[in-house]
Amino acid sequence: TEQLLQKSEKLALVGQMAAGLAHEIRNPLTSIKGFIQLFKSNYNRNEYYDLVLAELDRINLILGEFLVLAKPTAVIFKETNIKTIIKDVVTLVNTQSILNNVQIFVEFDTNIPPVSCEENQLKQVFINIIKNAIEAMPTGGIIEVKVNVKSESEITISIVDQGIGIPAERLQTLGEPFYTTKEKGTGLGLMTCFKIIENHNGHIHVTSEVNQGTTFEVILPTLTHSYSSV
Ligand code: ADP
Ligand code: MG
Repeated sequence: TEQLLQKSEKLALVGQMAAGLAHEIRNPLTSIKGFIQLFKSNYNRNEYYDLVLAELDRINLILGEFLVLAKPTAVIFKETNIKTIIKDVVTLVNTQSILNNVQIFVEFDTNIPPVSCEENQLKQVFINIIKNAIEAMPTGGIIEVKVNVKSESEITISIVDQGIGIPAERLQTLGEPFYTTKEKGTGLGLMTCFKIIENHNGHIHVTSEVNQGTTFEVILPTLTHSYSSV
């Protein structure tokens, strides 16, 4: 019965996600249809042209985030130094942080043990979390990224911001698809993060205080303990 329950829960989740996806995509499709109808009757087409492109980009973004999850899990895990991943990610988000008046400080414990991971997926996780941290500080601030040895078998990557925070009642439901407080948000980033970290036998722990800031802790098993934990 336990397995059956899990299966029906999974099916319910798939249905819920499909419904959400359909809803999110119908909105831009409806506007595209409207703009195209205007093309016919209006000679001033240029102003609608960019709007149509923007709506198509939006559909592409939503589907792109979804595809990360839908991809068959033929991912290859490799021994990886988390330090390299974090440094690459910080370089990647550098432009966005500068534009938003955000400084990122990175700190590593000495002798961080290697992890077993799919590098691009892990990068995706840290890019998402750091982008959210930047977006949580509309007037700028500081983000600290710390990599610590938690125990013999685990490391912790903490991302600490000084942003708007997350209300307590939203903390438990974080990672639900399509939950967003942003005008241009998709509400799919964290769901992807949780899924990827789960696939790595790790977990994510979030603490937050409204108007003080938020800390995302990503806990990952070290290479030598990656397989024994299942
Ligand atoms: P999106 O960024 O597209 O809104 P996410 O899944 O990445 O979607 O995040 C979902 C929601 O979680 C955000 O809209 C925001 O309300 C909240 N959130 C995530 N990270 C933070 C953070 N560091 N500070 C404050 N709120 C956050
Ligand atoms: Mg996001």
